[in-house]
Amino acid sequence: CGIVGIVGKPNATEIIIKGLEKLEYRGYDSAGLFVANRTSGSLVKAQGRIKNLSDKLTPDVTGTIGIGHTRWATHGQPSEENAHPHTSQSHRLVLVHNGVIENFEELKSNFLAADKFIGETDTEIVVHLIEFFMSQGLTTKEAFKKSLEEIQGSYAFALVDKEDPETIYVAKNKSPLLVGLGDGFNVICSDAMAMLEQTNRFVELVDGETVVVTADEILIEDQKGNQVFRDSYEAQLDL
Ligand code: GLU
Repeated sequence: CGIVGIVGKPNATEIIIKGLEKLEYRGYDSAGLFVANRTSGSLVKAQGRIKNLSDKLTPDVTGTIGIGHTRWATHGQPSEENAHPHTSQSHRLVLVHNGVIENFEELKSNFLAADKFIGETDTEIVVHLIEFFMSQGLTTKEAFKKSLEEIQGSYAFALVDKEDPETIYVAKNKSPLLVGLGDGFNVICSDAMAMLEQTNRFVELVDGETVVVTADEILIEDQKGNQVFRDSYEAQLDL
């Protein structure tokens, strides 16, 4: 339903909560976030309102990178287990997703027969699939791209690898997703409104592209792996 993320600011948790609150009007049944720094990471999820999520936050839930999600359940009931972010089999990868994966049952039986799952969402299959391709020798980015080739459906994805907590990988297909540019930080969001307090400069993404977002730069690649250069635009919305 809604996605926000940031890399390169020390108060990632607060920025994500504020961003999720801006998306509340769209409706949702649960919410969650993952934040990390070089030494630790925290995953917190709650059913119901964003307030339920923020009430669960303890002072140690801090980070310089993070992703957050409000969920509108399509596969699996609204519950804490089914709330995003979802993690891979080893818990190394963390993923949020808007949209619907149509062939998730098939992906599960073709590639992930031995895996154990925490919830029932289509999204959890995807984050396991990315790790499966990493176990075959691919890098995080390569495994993400390989998974996108296998997936049918609609998505906006934001992925973090705990072993490189300075990068957010994103991609979209038929679901909105933007990258926002800051000075020494960058953000991602499904709606510019969620991040307008951080920046008003955004870059639109095209279906099928993969974007590697770090504090200092964004690298957009098309499906063939060619680098894409696209100008940013200034969002003209009232706060
Ligand atoms: N299909 C996913 C789920 O049910 C994502 C739903 C959404 O877009 O919020 O968890």
